[in-house]
Amino acid sequence: MLKIGGVIAALLVVGAIAFPQFRPAIISLAPFALFALCPLSMFFAMRGMKEKGHTGSMVKIITQQDKELHQCGECGLQYADKAWAEKCEAWCKEHHTCNVEVIAHAIQTEEQEQHDS
Ligand SMILES: [Zn+2]
Repeated sequence: MLKIGGVIAALLVVGAIAFPQFRPAIISLAPFALFALCPLSMFFAMRGMKEKGHTGSMVKIITQQDKELHQCGECGLQYADKAWAEKCEAWCKEHHTCNVEVIAHAIQTEEQEQHDS
């Protein structure tokens, strides 16, 4: 964000030196260039936050028998609904136990069934 501002400022200064005839135009445009930086930097900040949020969730997507399952990164339970997997993960991280209401939505995998028997 500061880098972009520096680049724009440098371009304006270089432009003002290289083209003396455009100097008044550049000086009058400078505030607009800096004003345009605000939404730009907001955009970059928001994109950065989105990427952070994405890596923060450990919910894994597993494709099984043409079905997309979402696995809780903490306890490994699988859900057909991503929202439930995220809920489970949030609960597991905070309480280190299983929420019966949440795990009721979990899908019994074939592997788990085999382990149980
Ligand atoms: Zn979990």
